[in-house]
Amino acid sequence: MSCFNVDIFHLFEECFFVLGKVVIKVKIIIQKYGGTSMADANCIRNVAMKVIKEKRRGKAVIVVVSAQAGITDMLNEKAKEISSNPSKRELDMMLATGEQVSISLLAMAIHEMGEKGVSYTAQQVGIITDENYTNARIKNINSKKIMNELKDGKIVILPGFQGTTKNDEITNLGRGGSDTSAVAIGVAVNAEEVEIYTDVTGVYSADPRIVKNARKIDFISYDEMLEMAGSGAKVLHYRSVELAAKNNIKIHLRSSFDNSVGTIVKKEDKLMENPEIRGVAHSMNKAKITIGNIEDKSNNLTYIFNEIAKAKINVDIITQNQVGNNKICVSYIVDEEDYENAFKISEKFKDKFIGSYVKGNKDIAKISVIGIGMKSTYGVAAKVFSALADENIDIDMVSTSSINISCIVKKDDYMKALNIIHIKLLEE
Ligand code: ADP
Ligand code: ASP
Ligand code: MG
Repeated sequence: MSCFNVDIFHLFEECFFVLGKVVIKVKIIIQKYGGTSMADANCIRNVAMKVIKEKRRGKAVIVVVSAQAGITDMLNEKAKEISSNPSKRELDMMLATGEQVSISLLAMAIHEMGEKGVSYTAQQVGIITDENYTNARIKNINSKKIMNELKDGKIVILPGFQGTTKNDEITNLGRGGSDTSAVAIGVAVNAEEVEIYTDVTGVYSADPRIVKNARKIDFISYDEMLEMAGSGAKVLHYRSVELAAKNNIKIHLRSSFDNSVGTIVKKEDKLMENPEIRGVAHSMNKAKITIGNIEDKSNNLTYIFNEIAKAKINVDIITQNQVGNNKICVSYIVDEEDYENAFKISEKFKDKFIGSYVKGNKDIAKISVIGIGMKSTYGVAAKVFSALADENIDIDMVSTSSINISCIVKKDDYMKALNIIHIKLLEE
């Protein structure tokens, strides 16, 4: 305990520790490390060294960590061995342990290196969410405890992904949610930037593990990053970008395995060039449902999608085809995890729409081409379709917005599709 009457206040990424009459200005930094960055003891030591380096440069450091690589999947598998439909509350109870192991291991590694570090669970520090188990949203973060520990010269280690309700229930933010935890903590302490460390050196024009010539992007606007993340580029959790945009916090996405400068995600500014295409993303966890041979009445569509909405299922692309005789066929895309439920609901319509049928297809992938520059360029869709045609890839469905063209293709074709679009639209 300090013998001074210590007070703290913080303002724009800086924290002022008041010791008697002396005000000490310290810059707060937030670093998030993902599962591969925390994969084993050596990786954890590497994280500890990086964090300590910042601390010794005179910064106040908050670290947010994910469960070690593979742990969340492994825990989910364990649940499946017991139940095909486990309670969401119990799932969150179990999955939260993954991040809890990581925070304590990192604290131990920091202690071994002679620094002061302290880990806290979401509940202990007050990362308050709603009650939506497995996909909770952060409502508030109490920064008091964090600031007190920083003031004491400690590195504060917090779990990503994890939350707690106001009734002390354990919740999780959804897969990949640690990025969102880091940005939310950044908002809580008024940070200007959050560093997200991962296993690639930045955001690329396509997943660099699939597209050999994918290029690193130095700066990307929130809008484009939202579109990339929303279209399946899991390098950043969609909601982390949403939150960063809303609060105008920069995200610096970079590698935990080298010191290179990564990608800055920030507000679009006049100096940022807007290429026609910024990148290509893919999503493998989509499924398609078709309800065929229903009467062509506009309130039939309302009826179908009202029922789907009531089940809280998000619908992606919707198409409607005329199939003669005043009959239509409606197809829609949902996330794979909602497929069984959406299929069951759609089957119920067979009683209402006599003579109709329902078909499902999980053998699909969504390929999305993204770029703000598309707004002011014509012919991008034609280039995408022609690239796919060159490789004999069939397009099942298409959707477009001013900065996104998405195509549904067969799952087996996704790699070929990504690569040919990248070559024709980004390399030539
Ligand atoms: P972490 O465990 O650090 O959160 P993730 O596995 O969630 O890491 O995200 C990093 C991965 O995102 C990379 O290994 C890469 O395969 C994938 N990825 C997908 N699209 C892109 C992209 N456009 N740029 C960079 N990485 C991407
Ligand atoms: N551990 C969680 C997951 O694997 C959260 C995260 O890593 O962001 O999805
Ligand atoms: Mg991630």
